Amino acid sequence: MHWLVTLVALVIAVPAFAQHQQHTFAVHPNTNLHGRFLHITDIHLDPHYQNGATIKSGCHNQPKKHRKKKQRKGKLSGYWGAPTTDCDSSEPWVYHAIKTIADDWKDKIDFIVWTGDNARHDLDKKIPRTKEEILALNYKITTALQEEFRDENNKTIPIVPCIGNNDVHPHNQLRSTASSTLDAYSKLWSDMIPREQQEVFRQGGYFAVNILPGIRVLSLNTLYFFESNDQVLACKDPKSAGKRHLEWIREELTKARKMQARVYVIGHVPPSSRTFYGSCLTAYTQLSIEFRDVIAAHLYGHVNYDHFIVLQQEQQSQEENRIINIQKDSGRYITNLKHQYQQVNGNDQDKAVVVHVAPPILPIYYPGFRINEYDNDSKSTHFGTWTRYHQYYCNLTYWNNEKQHHALPRFELEYSTDEAYAMDNLTVGSWLDLAHRMTRKTDESRALWNTYVDNIFVQTEHDDD
Ligand SMILES: [Zn+2]
Repeated sequence: MHWLVTLVALVIAVPAFAQHQQHTFAVHPNTNLHGRFLHITDIHLDPHYQNGATIKSGCHNQPKKHRKKKQRKGKLSGYWGAPTTDCDSSEPWVYHAIKTIADDWKDKIDFIVWTGDNARHDLDKKIPRTKEEILALNYKITTALQEEFRDENNKTIPIVPCIGNNDVHPHNQLRSTASSTLDAYSKLWSDMIPREQQEVFRQGGYFAVNILPGIRVLSLNTLYFFESNDQVLACKDPKSAGKRHLEWIREELTKARKMQARVYVIGHVPPSSRTFYGSCLTAYTQLSIEFRDVIAAHLYGHVNYDHFIVLQQEQQSQEENRIINIQKDSGRYITNLKHQYQQVNGNDQDKAVVVHVAPPILPIYYPGFRINEYDNDSKSTHFGTWTRYHQYYCNLTYWNNEKQHHALPRFELEYSTDEAYAMDNLTVGSWLDLAHRMTRKTDESRALWNTYVDNIFVQTEHDDD
């Protein structure tokens, strides 16, 4: 009877074994993957936002006089939001946006990356933000996403969050060790952070997750690399939080390479000479180049422009204008970007890193989100690679003018990378090729550049090209 006992033991053991297999990378799934994921970022919910308020007050106060005249001149906020101003997101807009994206996409995507800055900016001196308010706003957004993105089995689609520089108090400042802030987020996001990663997160605000067999997401804590965070040292200091974080990234990428997994790296503040400590940027660039076979994409938010940044080892020290207010200096930002692209050599794909910044839900221009596509052929060696994205946007000026707000705003397709930029895939080489194609001295190239700049400002009026 021994064989029977063994067989029974085996049968009982199989489910546990199968479950365990789900958590390793090597085995690609047999399930029907959609091959799509959502990227949503920079929601900046503002509970103090008022309809018909003055733009000058950050959309917080009603005008004392000349309401009609101000309204005519577009100096008052709309019901859904105040596009092309510094005002943060209204509550009706945020909840509607999350709901409508979920209604349209939740049964067509495999997971969500959500790259931070859920709380409003600290712009109104009369109502300074508190730590409690910031956490409450993050609670509201977390709950809304978890509720809206339930699948037909009432299970929430996997969501990978990360901390933005406006999700901490005061903004940009986060201690280099365990803190009550990290503790609070570890509790708030306990369903999204794998159990075995929760201690890592409590210590450093970052974590890794096997989002699908064969695809791993690293959620970084960019505040440890961020030059505006006075609580941390630059990465050249061996005791710095940034250095520790880099070591963790290296371990994770090494593990992923061994398991033959693709890695999507996500964070809030994108690596650039304007944002990162120099030593942190150099190390990040180096590491990314070293693991370019493993990393499928670097996906970020924070900057509010829809664009990509090219990091090259040699060029970092040359880049000028370290600190500029990009919203007020958009012309300069675009000019610098063009210079960066002009320096790109099409054959540099082994020496360059391409970092992607998605535009925000915040209507600083028109709000938007991205539907990314990846290779979902589990038999292919390209499984998990990034192939295309579709950029959606919502013309809030139009919807603000719709009478009585009975009509609910709808997102529309802005562009797709294959049609707008003639890209077959989204590898580093393809992006460098685009950088090159956009910056030549031909009419065709200039037209492509103009399309790109219109997309940077999400189709709003701009005078920067
Ligand atoms: Zn930010």
